[in-house]
Amino acid sequence: MEMKYCMTCGAPLETRDVDGTMRLACSAEGCSFVHWGNYSIGVGALVLREGKVLLVRRAQEPGKGYWTNPGGYIEQLELIHDSIRREVKEETGVDAEVRGIVAVRDLPRNIHNVYIAFAMDYVGGEPVPDGIEVDAAGFFGMAELESMNVAGFTRWLIDVARKSEGDGLIEDKEPLVKLDGHGLFRI
Ligand SMILES: [Zn+2]
Repeated sequence: MEMKYCMTCGAPLETRDVDGTMRLACSAEGCSFVHWGNYSIGVGALVLREGKVLLVRRAQEPGKGYWTNPGGYIEQLELIHDSIRREVKEETGVDAEVRGIVAVRDLPRNIHNVYIAFAMDYVGGEPVPDGIEVDAAGFFGMAELESMNVAGFTRWLIDVARKSEGDGLIEDKEPLVKLDGHGLFRI
């Protein structure tokens, strides 16, 4: 279904040239809305505690019954590392801090999804499932994972976490240039 009206001001959209590409854009003067496409951004957490990884069992589709790492979707006005902290806390009750970004998955489909995986340090709390999105949660060792129904992508992420030599992209908390509102990660 094609969009007809501006999501910012409600005026009709028109098709016009935006930097060399024909795109749906707002027809109202003074409104800068452009429909760039359909995108979603996911965040995921690899929380390790004494060599065990925090996993949850999905209680909803997609992937119902599969064990995955905790995660979710970012919010409009939330920094991504705040999103992942919140998702881990909501799904499992565990407090964890971001160490770095260790993997990115690109999935261009009807809704183009980009997924950012964080390595996180365990801070506190025992895993308790939220009972809505997930119905089980816990820390599991590599041997235990063998007999569990772990989602393929999560298996890949666990391999990344185990074999990473560095911390990945690290948050720059004191950037050279003050950039308000930016979340900055760098090698
Ligand atoms: Zn508009």
